Amino acid sequence: MRVLLLSTYELGHPPFGLASPAAWLAEAGATVACNDLAVEPLNAEAVAAADLVALYVPMHTATRLAAEVLPQIIALNPRAHVCCYGLYAPMNEPYLRRLGAHTLLGGEFETALVALYQRLAAHLPPDPPPAVSLPRQTFRVPKREALPPLSAYAQLVLPDGSSRLAGYTEASRGCKHLCRHCPVVPVYGGQFRIIQRPTVLADVAWQVEAGAQHITFGDPDFFNGPGHAIPLVQELHRRHPALTYDVTIKIEHLLKHADLLPILRDTGCLFVTSAVEAVDDAILEKLDKRHTTADFIRAATSLRQMGLALNPTFLPFTPWTTLANYTHLLQLIADLGLIENVAPVQYAIRLLIPAGSLLLALPDVAALVLPFDEAALSYPWAHPDPRLDRLQTDIFALVQTGNADRAALFEQVWRLAQEAAADSTTSLPLFSPRTPIPHLSEPWYC
Ligand code: SF4
Repeated sequence: MRVLLLSTYELGHPPFGLASPAAWLAEAGATVACNDLAVEPLNAEAVAAADLVALYVPMHTATRLAAEVLPQIIALNPRAHVCCYGLYAPMNEPYLRRLGAHTLLGGEFETALVALYQRLAAHLPPDPPPAVSLPRQTFRVPKREALPPLSAYAQLVLPDGSSRLAGYTEASRGCKHLCRHCPVVPVYGGQFRIIQRPTVLADVAWQVEAGAQHITFGDPDFFNGPGHAIPLVQELHRRHPALTYDVTIKIEHLLKHADLLPILRDTGCLFVTSAVEAVDDAILEKLDKRHTTADFIRAATSLRQMGLALNPTFLPFTPWTTLANYTHLLQLIADLGLIENVAPVQYAIRLLIPAGSLLLALPDVAALVLPFDEAALSYPWAHPDPRLDRLQTDIFALVQTGNADRAALFEQVWRLAQEAAADSTTSLPLFSPRTPIPHLSEPWYC
C-alpha cells in the first residue's frame, strides 16, 4: 500500500514531521513517498498513486497552505484516504474535514499514523483515533532519503556572509509550560515528550553524512528537560566536533539554568532563539510568559558575556500594545545592542488567537474577538486604537521587502512608529553597528 507524506512549510527546515513517520510507516510495510511543497512542486503522480495521503500541519502557515492544496489532492485522487496530522490538525478539525480530510491526528502522531495505515491495508474501516494522543513513543530513526537534499533548505549564514548546509532535528516535542498565546498548549497541555538520544544522534549523523555542518534543534524549549538535552549535546560534540547547532530556550530557563549555558557554547551552540514577546510586564503577564522585562535584560546580558548569540523573537502587536510601548521595545533593542540580532519579521508579528487558545479565558480578549474564522485559523480581532493596526500593516509591508541590512531596516521601523505617534521629537536611539549574528537564511517565522 502506498503512502504519500506531504509537507507544505516547516520554516525552511527539512521536515522531521515527514522523515519520522516515513521511518515508522516503512517499518510497518508501507511504500512511502515524501513531497515537500516548500521546496518542490506537488508530485501529481505520487498523489494519484497513493492509497493514503497524509499532510503535516505543525503550524499556522503550513495549515493555511495545506488548506489550499487539499482540493487539488482530492481532485487528483478521490479514492485516497486523506489525513492531516500535527499540532494544528485537532484544533481545526471541522474545517479540515470540510475540505476533505478523513482523519485528524495531533500530538505524538507516529503510532496513530501506523495504526491508520494498518487498518486501511487490511481493508478495515479506519478506527477513529483520539484527535490528540500523547502516549510516550519509542522513536525510529527518521528516514530522510525521500526528502529533497539539504541544499534545498534554509542554510546557516555566518557573520562574514558565507553559508553552511544546515540540517534539522527534534530532541523533544510539546512543552511543560502554559503560555496563553501558544498553539502547543491546547494539544500538549503542559506536557512534553522526549525523542530518545540514540535516535536523535543517529538522525544527526545521517544529516552530517549528507553534508550538514549545522543542526537546528526544533524543540519548543530545549531546556524543558536539561537532563536529556545536556548529555545529548555533549555526545553530539564528541562525535562531531566541528558541527554547530542552535536551540530555542525560554527566558525563564536561560536564567534558571544559566550554569548550563557554557556547556552549550563549548559544544558548538552558535545561537539561542528565545521568545521574549514583549517588554511590558503587564503584557507578559497577560501571555503568562513567566518572565519580566528585567529578566530579558539579564538573560540578554548574560548570553552576550558568555559569547552566545541571542536570536530574540517578539510579539509586538497585541491588543494591549500602545504606540509608547512599541517605541519602548525599539529603544530597548537598540540599548541592548540587539539590532543585528532581530530578524526583520519580528517587528511586525501580530497576535494570532488560534482555536483552543488559553487567551480566550481572559475577559478582555473574549470581549474583543470576533467569531472564529476557519479559513484564517484564528479569532479575528482589531486593536482598540486603529493606529496600531495601521502601523502593523505598514511594518509588515516593509519587512516583506526583504531588506537584508538590519540596521537600515530598524531605522525605517523607528520612523514609521514615530509617524504613527505623530511624534517628531523623539530621536532615533543611538546605536553602534555590531557584527551580524549567525542566523538561518529563512526569513519567515510561524
Ligand atoms: S515556553 Fe514556548 S513552547 Fe512552551 S508554552 Fe511557552 S511559548 Fe509555548
